[in-house]
Amino acid sequence: MTEPGKRVDPADWSAFRRAFHDLADQCVDRLESARNLPWIPKPDDMARAVALRDAEPGADAATVFSELAQGIMPYATGNTHPAFFGWVHGTGQPAGVAAEMVAATMNANLGGRDHGAIEVERAVIDWTRRQAGLPQSASGILTTGTSQATLLALCAARMRLMGDDVRRDGIADLGRIRVYAVEGAHYSIAKALEIMGHGSRAVRYVAQEAQGAMDLRALAAAVDDDRAAGIRPMAVVGTAGAVDTGLFDPIDALADFCAAEDIWYHVDGAFGFWAVLADTPWCDLMRGVGRADSIATDFHKWIGAPYDCGLCLMADGDLHRRSFATRPPYLEGMEDGLGGGSLWFCDYGLDLSRGFRALKVWATIRAVGRARLADSITDNCRQAALLGSLVTQSSQFDLVRPVQANVCCFAPRNADAGALATALQLSGEAVFSTTRVDDRTCLRAAIVNHRTTDSDVRTAFAALERQAAAQ
Ligand SMILES: *Cc1c(COP(=O)(O)O)cnc(C)c1O
Repeated sequence: MTEPGKRVDPADWSAFRRAFHDLADQCVDRLESARNLPWIPKPDDMARAVALRDAEPGADAATVFSELAQGIMPYATGNTHPAFFGWVHGTGQPAGVAAEMVAATMNANLGGRDHGAIEVERAVIDWTRRQAGLPQSASGILTTGTSQATLLALCAARMRLMGDDVRRDGIADLGRIRVYAVEGAHYSIAKALEIMGHGSRAVRYVAQEAQGAMDLRALAAAVDDDRAAGIRPMAVVGTAGAVDTGLFDPIDALADFCAAEDIWYHVDGAFGFWAVLADTPWCDLMRGVGRADSIATDFHKWIGAPYDCGLCLMADGDLHRRSFATRPPYLEGMEDGLGGGSLWFCDYGLDLSRGFRALKVWATIRAVGRARLADSITDNCRQAALLGSLVTQSSQFDLVRPVQANVCCFAPRNADAGALATALQLSGEAVFSTTRVDDRTCLRAAIVNHRTTDSDVRTAFAALERQAAAQ
């Protein structure tokens, strides 16, 4: 019915505007009432309700937006609720929601070219670089998350070990390499090595010392052992906040070790990196992180920027660029105009087309400010410690690892951890997740939630005790 160029945009902009305003109100309502909206299961017929049918004509904005608000928005992971402690799910930041709307409106492609959005990503990277204490010559790029950031970091580590020709020649003629990480380190490290062609056995898991951090003597022995067998150490990964137990490797001591052994030092700080902002003693866990060759972290976990956004920082910005830069003729830079600019992010990572992830992070930091972000992170550490002390005082649970920062792992003495977690999720009282530590199934709270109060922690634990007694 409509002409080319007019088929797709809204036919009636005023109706679109009204529906959009109404939708914005419903989003803000949801944000404001997060405390009353715990996780709820999705409807049984949701798959059918959202299925896309070829024969269906396009719907008007009011219809589509009401489907978004009523049919989809309520059925998320529940991590916007203050008693959500499961996995490590960020809570989301209201300013980030508004920024997502602006980012989508601009629809900028941050693969390269010279435009304002690039400056915003640069500002986010620079701010984080300063929190890390990396030198000004360091570089960075926003990624989907820490998994992708880890892949980028390990590719750069390989370039340093093997030389720049590895990009052209591949690894077929190169011998075996090794990456060291603590037992229980995140699977994204092994996955990166699978993708890179080395296989997951290229990761050597180093034993934990009594407190659960990487045992440095075991690390030194593993490196010696590999070298004697002709396997080249490529990187050591320091875990800042293990995903199961929340424990931190000795970040500064690992920097000493890597410097002495001339091995690339990568820090997986997906959530734990942000302890840099916390008060003592928690910020001490991150002392020395500025000595890393690379750092991977997420903005979607403890900073709470809406999903998804991670970051890879590298101390050697030139090596970082050489690891990924490729410019076919159609992307050659210009002196001036849109084709200009010296920083093209496509030279620093996997993606050529890149969205404006930076804006929701920028808006979050701008709206909340460093000091309040830091206080909120400190609150979470105190709340995990509070939970740890409630567990210790309880006759029904054992603390299975010390609480170092924001994660508390504990096992029921006489009840089933999985059943307890499920019961609380279904009752809407709280979300804990489970894991296995020392062959016991444990409940696990990872508090990265800026809405959580001490009373939420007490209430959630009381609900657990009640359930455990009833089981
Ligand atoms: C979440 C997490 C990852 C993976 O990060 P994504 O952003 O989910 O890709 C890696 N390491 C640790 C310690 C994590 O908690």
